[in-house]
Amino acid sequence: MTFQLPSLPYPLNSLEPHLSARVLELHHGRHHRKYVERVNALVEEAGLEGLSMEGLIQTQRGTLFDNAAQAWNHEFYWHSMAPSGTAVLDDSLGGAVRRDFGSIESLEKTFKQAAISVFGSGWAWLVRAPSGRLEVVTTKDADCPLREGKQPLLTCDVWEHAYYLDYENHRSRYVDAWWNLANWEFAAANFHRHDVVITR
Ligand code: MN
Repeated sequence: MTFQLPSLPYPLNSLEPHLSARVLELHHGRHHRKYVERVNALVEEAGLEGLSMEGLIQTQRGTLFDNAAQAWNHEFYWHSMAPSGTAVLDDSLGGAVRRDFGSIESLEKTFKQAAISVFGSGWAWLVRAPSGRLEVVTTKDADCPLREGKQPLLTCDVWEHAYYLDYENHRSRYVDAWWNLANWEFAAANFHRHDVVITR
């Protein structure tokens, strides 16, 4: 069984004007597709058929880890955004945000600053730590908070391929746009999950 490129959960043009159809077409249709294709080739080469993407992330290192994690991260990224965003936090996630960040505005500031400060390629994440507290964390290259037993709630891809065509080198403008698209319903669904599949 080979992995398939997951479909985008919305039409290509539905994140405009924040992210163009052209960026989504290239990012999903070429970058995300390439990671999935590489995973399939490497899995076949290594005789690892039958493992889930999470299983590969848990057990593999090197190129196979990088491609499996990028495949997983990208699927999570598409769901982290929604056309016109979903501004309403459910009560328990909203309560946790106020408890751990003080306010949604404070979380916004912390998240944007983290995303902007990633040097080179990586990801910014809102996660629920094993303690239950919410944290903003960043990862480099393909790395993913699942490896530290943290449940991702939302992620922003800050690799240049995520924004360069729309925003050139202005990552902060892209991060502002991403914030407008943040899918808080998806964040809440993840917040209520207690089945983090990967732990060290
Ligand atoms: Mn990407």
